[in-house]
Amino acid sequence: MTDPIHPRPVDILRRSVAMLTAHAALEVLGDVRLGGFHLTDDGFAYDLLPAAHAGGDLLDRLGGPIGDAIAADLPFECEAVGRDAAAAELADQPFLLARLDDEPDRSEWRLCRIGRAVDLIDDPVVAAAGEIHAAALRLVDISGAYWRGDESRPQFQRIHATVWESPAALEAHLEAREEARARDHRVIGERLDLFAFDPAVGAGLPLWLPDGQVVRDELERWAVETERAWGYQRIATPHITRSELYELSGHLPYFADDMYPPIETEGGVEYRLRPMNCPHHMAVFAARPHSYRELPLRYAEYGAVYRFERSGELSGLMRVRGMTQNDAHIFCPLDQAREEFIAVMQLHEYCYDLLGIENYHMVLALRDPENRAKYHGDEEMWETAERLTREAMEVSGIEYEEEHGGAAHYGPKVDFVLRSATGRDYGVSTNQLDLYLPMRFGLWFANERNERERPAVIHRAPLGSHERFIGFLIEHYAGAFPPWLAPVQVAVVPVGEDHVPWAREVSDALFNDGRRVGPILEGATVGAAIAHAEKRRIPFVLVVGSREVDSRAVSVRLRGGDQAGAMAFDDFRRKLGANIADRRLDTGLD
Ligand SMILES: [Zn+2]
Repeated sequence: MTDPIHPRPVDILRRSVAMLTAHAALEVLGDVRLGGFHLTDDGFAYDLLPAAHAGGDLLDRLGGPIGDAIAADLPFECEAVGRDAAAAELADQPFLLARLDDEPDRSEWRLCRIGRAVDLIDDPVVAAAGEIHAAALRLVDISGAYWRGDESRPQFQRIHATVWESPAALEAHLEAREEARARDHRVIGERLDLFAFDPAVGAGLPLWLPDGQVVRDELERWAVETERAWGYQRIATPHITRSELYELSGHLPYFADDMYPPIETEGGVEYRLRPMNCPHHMAVFAARPHSYRELPLRYAEYGAVYRFERSGELSGLMRVRGMTQNDAHIFCPLDQAREEFIAVMQLHEYCYDLLGIENYHMVLALRDPENRAKYHGDEEMWETAERLTREAMEVSGIEYEEEHGGAAHYGPKVDFVLRSATGRDYGVSTNQLDLYLPMRFGLWFANERNERERPAVIHRAPLGSHERFIGFLIEHYAGAFPPWLAPVQVAVVPVGEDHVPWAREVSDALFNDGRRVGPILEGATVGAAIAHAEKRRIPFVLVVGSREVDSRAVSVRLRGGDQAGAMAFDDFRRKLGANIADRRLDTGLD
């Protein structure tokens, strides 16, 4: 028997278990048409068409023959065969047989057999079933799937399985999946009443409920404060604009597929919902003459944009059709661009640090060397932009990788990719050093010699869009937002009826301090009230009974169950104020 302790590359195991599943199905169901498998992120999906109803316990029943084959170390036999031999072998498996017709010019095929199953597989499988660890695989569920995705064709039963090198790896995977499910922003967003979708409003167009809007407002308030300190000025520009602007910017025709179709108005003038804020910000710069003495000019706007994402691409808040971006454009002489870009990266670090996001890196997206037609043709401009961008990235010290093909038509991009607590990567912020749009818009400033000089532009958006960023934060915090971001910060729970007046006084005082206080939870037991507050992920619960009433105190319970104990109410107010003013990540009151 081969040694099951030495792991094989996991795809070999997955292919092999997929074939074992077919063997098991033939053992259990007898008459069954095999549809073959494809690998997934964590295992495989196998399609079966049983002649009779397979029964709800099919997965359990398949487990037996799979385990037996592993215990018996059943051999996999693979050989190269000609078309006719393959066709003869697959005569009673029409769906596998059909694959021969997909490649009519191919003369040689690799045919593999295990037990009763057969398949055409070019990639390696194990030599014998004993190499598979029976405790490192799990048949997860069954769904329906049409043959080749075509609804007019037979519907298979699709078996989903996850397969790993070792039982420990399987265990870790199942745990991570459970965790990811519990943290899914769509699930938490629904439970915490943060946002909703309505088909009458439109797919991909989120409605922000009051508690979700709190998170937006707090993030935006913080962005405004931070950007003010970093030398930005705020502007505001319209959501709808003449198509002409996008012809001037060069976004039309490159970006047309991602834009909503034009709206025609009187005189045949076409308007578009804006898909990005950049052209408007160029127009703001162009609205007045500028001197080198004013530069850099940093224009910031939380700007709403609309993009026509395909319906199949929409996903909760992560892919939407309407979003509000933490946008800004920095206008500076070319010789300040490197320094400004470094500052932008430092701003990212500052923001992510404060939010407790530790796992992130940058991706430098360059041109696709095979398809230069997608990009503007000024080679010198590309080289300058790439060089300055790379220099700024090096100086920032943040880890980065390069990717060919992701650049915008007007220049290389730097994406910040954040890894969520569940290990998923999200590109949330895109930055660019751009020499092209200033040229398209004929932007200039008067330099020291009083000559017209073209500025460079830096596009930046550390907090991405509200939609995607909040989606990320929901998963990052599993709904337990730090106090400054929490939709409800404090719940007040009176022990009995006698304590309600003091609970009201506490609640009103906190409200007047600008805190977000939940409704007073009277009537229920203290335990039920605490459980409710915990479910809503409220950071602080203040329990008030006779002792608290007598000493104008509150008994403080922190989210998660820690007790901060009884303290004078005025102390609590002060400490809570400090926690929020510092935008602390924890519920510490010191
Ligand atoms: Zn921009």
